Amino acid sequence: MKTKLLQLVLLAFVAMCIGGARTQAGEAAPEVGKPFPAWSKGELDIHHINTGRGDAQFMILPDGTTLMEDASGKTVEEPPFSLPTKPDASRPPGEWVARYIQRVLPKSARKIDYAVLSHFHGDHMGTIVKDSPWAPSGAYQLSGITLIPEFVSIARIVDRGWPDYDYPAPVTSLTVRNYRKFLDWQIRNRGLQVEQFQPGHNDQFALLHDPKSYPTFEIRNLAANGVVWTGFGSSAHGMVPPIASLSREDYPIENNLSVAFRVSYGKFDYYSGGDLSSNDEETAFRPPLWKDIEAAVSQVCGPVDVMKADHHGSWDANGISLLANLRPRVIVVDARAQGHPAVNTYERMSSKKIWPGERDIFVTNVSPATAKTTYGIENAKSTQGHVVIRVAPGGGSYRVFVLEDDDEEMRVKAIFGPYESR
Ligand SMILES: [Zn+2]
Repeated sequence: MKTKLLQLVLLAFVAMCIGGARTQAGEAAPEVGKPFPAWSKGELDIHHINTGRGDAQFMILPDGTTLMEDASGKTVEEPPFSLPTKPDASRPPGEWVARYIQRVLPKSARKIDYAVLSHFHGDHMGTIVKDSPWAPSGAYQLSGITLIPEFVSIARIVDRGWPDYDYPAPVTSLTVRNYRKFLDWQIRNRGLQVEQFQPGHNDQFALLHDPKSYPTFEIRNLAANGVVWTGFGSSAHGMVPPIASLSREDYPIENNLSVAFRVSYGKFDYYSGGDLSSNDEETAFRPPLWKDIEAAVSQVCGPVDVMKADHHGSWDANGISLLANLRPRVIVVDARAQGHPAVNTYERMSSKKIWPGERDIFVTNVSPATAKTTYGIENAKSTQGHVVIRVAPGGGSYRVFVLEDDDEEMRVKAIFGPYESR
């Protein structure tokens, strides 16, 4: 009888070992060369989608709520600085993003619950040019954010400018004028909701399906329009002097008005700050202190496990203050041009003089020229491919997946971790 029991236990053990190749939810375990396994409930997935043309992140929150930040991309090549469109130039970058989202969208979710625009530049919202294609309604032109609902509908858009788009001065680019026509049409015909990003708040991006099961999940709005969370409650303070007191050339630039937020899940924290920068892009000098919004944001954000590099890893962003305050274990650089990441920025990101400890750097796209000029880039964990952060249920640990970006097969190129959240 005892032997029989022992046999049964042994059999159960063997079955468990064989079954080890599958996760609890019955999904196949991730494997290099195989398609990236679908999200399951309780996980937090953060996809950095590489189109080569601009930023686009897509998140699946633990209860299946979905959030897209930015929609890529510049459609017009700017040789010699541009990178080629990935997977190829047969479709515009926004369409590649939409198709990627369709592939990873959980079965329970049929739409993008929240779409956030970090700021109003074409590499984040889709550049519109005179001959950009028109929507079937004829009401607006299609690129980036305005192209997404042709494939996946968006329930709510959050940006820095709604409803007037006039800070620090009216935003009059063709891209933003077209975007406003798109909003009008989507509000009237598709029930789209639009809100302005509220710095300091932690309830603008809520879990919509099962918040009670994930009490440690939070998205904290850190900044927008140069207004930064104080670290207390949901209060925020403006960094920018009254606009009327500034001369036109001292106005904050679009990059520094970017929205920034922190995603927390248990011990896990992730930072995203659009194109915030620490040095003045135009003059190359350190700006007046009020313009270093990146540094102020990093003080209230505090240490994170994973940071998305500001401004594509450009030379003027990811200053010492930001890196020293965030002390990331993992850095993801969304690159879209040569000089992403820049040699000085990569050096700061790698320097243990700024913060101690190990760190792994992942770049979605490194051009041959950048590979030559950005010293040390060969030590990056990845220099080509979509980068996905998959946080385990509860937030205690996470892994980083690099996915092939040559096609739409979603094949895993490499797996890193698990990293323990801190
Ligand atoms: Zn940008």
